[in-house]
Amino acid sequence: MKRILVTGGAGFLGSNLCERLLNDGNEVICMDNYFTGFKSNVEHLMDHKYFELMRHDVIDPFKVEVDQIYNLACPASPPHYQYNPIKTMKTSVMGAINCLGLAKRTKARIFQASTSEVYGDPNVHPQPEGYWGHVNPIGIRSCYDEGKRAAETLFFDYHRQNGVDIRIVRIFNTYGPRMNPDDGRVVSNFIVQALRGDDITIYGDGQQTRSFCYVDDLLEGFVRLMNKDGITGPINIGNPGEFTMLELAEKVIQKIGGSSKLVFQDLPSDDPKQRQPDISLAKQELDWEPQVKLDDGLDLTIAYFKNKLAL
Ligand code: NAD
Ligand code: UDP
Repeated sequence: MKRILVTGGAGFLGSNLCERLLNDGNEVICMDNYFTGFKSNVEHLMDHKYFELMRHDVIDPFKVEVDQIYNLACPASPPHYQYNPIKTMKTSVMGAINCLGLAKRTKARIFQASTSEVYGDPNVHPQPEGYWGHVNPIGIRSCYDEGKRAAETLFFDYHRQNGVDIRIVRIFNTYGPRMNPDDGRVVSNFIVQALRGDDITIYGDGQQTRSFCYVDDLLEGFVRLMNKDGITGPINIGNPGEFTMLELAEKVIQKIGGSSKLVFQDLPSDDPKQRQPDISLAKQELDWEPQVKLDDGLDLTIAYFKNKLAL
């Protein structure tokens, strides 16, 4: 049994991760400031003997004794990370410094939830880990993209300078149960809009692409990377199945039915035109590849939202 800290543990991925780690027989300390996460996401874990919930902001230093740290604290949806961009950058950078300082002191192994956004609006497709990216440093997405890039730099500097045992995963768009209905990301928006019979909002012409990974597949990749010796990453974890936003909208409408129409809205600036992970490294190093097809994952996610919205 390991004692594990999960920052951002009350969010979408964090709450699923806390549950997975407890099921694997670990002790979990969940830290969150509830900016985009909710106590209700971990309510069902409260009575677990080995679960502890801590309200704390990752930008303020903290002391706990742990064997492993998963650093997930950071808003991930564009409207949420753009709401207070300075705070987003502080969360990524100061959060990384605080977690790395803790890892240095306790000799804990530390895992960073990085992102495909480090590749920006990529001009290499699909994106391998060796691609350095095409990121606007001064745009409205930069607080997130550059914050995550700076966090990766800090991880490698603590590794080289202090021997900290790091793992970095670059997460590609992930969806599934416990997404917040008001999160603002595309999968939750389309499903919630279709279930409510509202118009489906397509930004731009809907020809931009994303590759969607189901949450359970992603977490399997997390745990394999965290528990493998002699590897730092960065390593891409995502599902290479690539879809346009129009294709995604059509799939959701076909599954849910109803009267929703497509409405076209302005494309936000710097919105990447294409995104697909090259997962050769994850296959080779972790023997990992996604198992859940988009159709099946969407069915599970639709069932979750139906229940959540009590429809
Ligand atoms: P989320 O918004 O549901 O979860 C983020 C969690 O971090 C929330 O519970 C939030 O309250 C918490 N948080 C934010 N700022 C904090 C702070 N200063 N101190 C403490 N807690 C704070 O998003 P998610 O999809 O679960 O993302 C989790 C992590 O994975 C993030 O770091 C995100 O950048 C990364 N990621 C996610 C995706 C994805 O597709 N879901 C893709 C790439 C990267
Ligand atoms: N998007 C959309 N309608 C929405 C929300 C998002 O068309 O209601 C588009 C968005 O412009 C982007 C893609 O869907 O091109 C994925 O957006 P999301 O915010 O989910 O993730 P990210 O852009 O961070 O990959």
